[in-house]
Amino acid sequence: MSKSLQAFLQARLDGVRTDRRWRRLRTLDGPQQPEQVIDGQPVVAFCSNDYLGLAADPAVVAAAREALDRYGVGAGAAHLINGHTRAHVELEQALARFTGRERALLFSTGYMANLALVQTLAGRHDTVFEDRWNHASLIDAVRLAGARSQRYRHADPGHLRERLEQAPDRGHRLIVTDGVFSMDGDIAPLPELAALAREFDAWLMVDDAHGLSVLGATGGGSCQHHGLGADDVPILMGTLGKGFGTAGAFVAGSEALIEALIQTARPYIYTTAMPAALAAATLASVRIAEAAEDRRAHLQGLLQRLGAGLDRLGLQHPPPVTPIQPVHIGDTRRASAVAERLLAAGFLVPAIRPPTVPEGQARLRITLSAAHTEAQVDALLRALEQALEQVSP
Ligand code: PMP
Repeated sequence: MSKSLQAFLQARLDGVRTDRRWRRLRTLDGPQQPEQVIDGQPVVAFCSNDYLGLAADPAVVAAAREALDRYGVGAGAAHLINGHTRAHVELEQALARFTGRERALLFSTGYMANLALVQTLAGRHDTVFEDRWNHASLIDAVRLAGARSQRYRHADPGHLRERLEQAPDRGHRLIVTDGVFSMDGDIAPLPELAALAREFDAWLMVDDAHGLSVLGATGGGSCQHHGLGADDVPILMGTLGKGFGTAGAFVAGSEALIEALIQTARPYIYTTAMPAALAAATLASVRIAEAAEDRRAHLQGLLQRLGAGLDRLGLQHPPPVTPIQPVHIGDTRRASAVAERLLAAGFLVPAIRPPTVPEGQARLRITLSAAHTEAQVDALLRALEQALEQVSP
């Protein structure tokens, strides 16, 4: 390697280390499920986004296997060339039905779906109103689209109204929000955002990566949770690598929205289609998710149990409605030490530290899955109590 390249990379890495932002890869052996072996250590994991326990579900795995036999592995080309199989078509139709939208379009990742959506809907002359705590892919999407960005305070419709009132009267306005916030686990105030969108002739786009399949009677996500439909949220994005247990993403909306993405969105046009086997596996998981009242009820029961236990320990956490339950610890060093003690006791719970969250707001990010048992949640609470006793504030 050239000396200048080596020096450049070393300086970047030193910077990351000095900023205490170093991240470490762990190696998982075996499927994504609560009891797993990671870096050679058996643990019960409380950090995955497989909220319904579908990632290793036998019906989902069987659908993938069958489709592998029929279609092979690689899609071989982009959707618009010849990578768009019958399996993709069937999944898109199922997702449109699932979300109650006219049409749906698949993407290989949620990151790309967000890039595609924002660049299709907003350009240099337009303004995008973003919740301050939106997911990184949304923030990057606005930057790449070159649109004017107006951030409003987290989940604060009053502040959004101010921003809308102050915005220059040129171009159009797009309001973008997570449905369920990925680090905090709270649900966006969608009815208020939809009302503001109507009043100011803005377009509302919701990234419901963490809400779809989990919230609402049939898993319709944060929109269904709030009783909102396509008229309120015309632009809906969902990921498949979380509650649906597979990988990839989709956009759901009107016929015109989907056709505009197909015709103009570079992250759609210039990339290889997801493997057909993945689409087939996801079709199986969408069918399970639609009728998964039992899994959702079990998950809600676990959340109530966890919430009550955290209350007993005097720990701050959001209302136990979504499976993302960040537990406030405060001090960064203490949060890391508690996470290490939990790992030593066999529980994988990540500590979220600055700069991901502000100084003094370090937390443990617990996520629950319908695949967890009550006994596992109770054991986690006991281990947490002990770890907090051992690590002084
Ligand atoms: N949006 C949100 C809210 C997310 O949490 C994530 C994944 N962490 C994404 C988008 C990106 O989705 P994907 O992992 O499919 O790229």
